[in-house]
Amino acid sequence: MRMGWLGAAAGLAAVGAVVAARRIFNAPDDGADGAVPNSHGAGGFTPREGLDPTLLEILACPDDKQPVIYQREGDAERLTCTSCGKRYPVRDGIPVMLIDEATVGPLPTEADIAAAHAVRPEGKPAVVGASA
Ligand SMILES: [Zn+2]
Repeated sequence: MRMGWLGAAAGLAAVGAVVAARRIFNAPDDGADGAVPNSHGAGGFTPREGLDPTLLEILACPDDKQPVIYQREGDAERLTCTSCGKRYPVRDGIPVMLIDEATVGPLPTEADIAAAHAVRPEGKPAVVGASA
């Protein structure tokens, strides 16, 4: 009997935790994230549609600390340094900001950079056509 009561209490506690978690995960839908309906889950982003602009703002070329822009060429995604032209691969939506993994291509043109900085209404960075 005692064990049964404890089990019930544990069950209720678990239910409470689930409810609390749902409140947390649902919260962004009613607030800041309201302008981006169903495009991504709480706290996440959809790599295949580009990278989170906030992520792009804090990323920099590890070699010269200059801004990088997001580019896509077919299925290949990369972040290209606007200063030295190093291209960092994006694998499964994860930018690999390692100099050893970078390839060097032509510097992005002004048009490439401008296009990359254009933010679509849903808050995603524009996908830039590769000029390689
Ligand atoms: Zn660089």
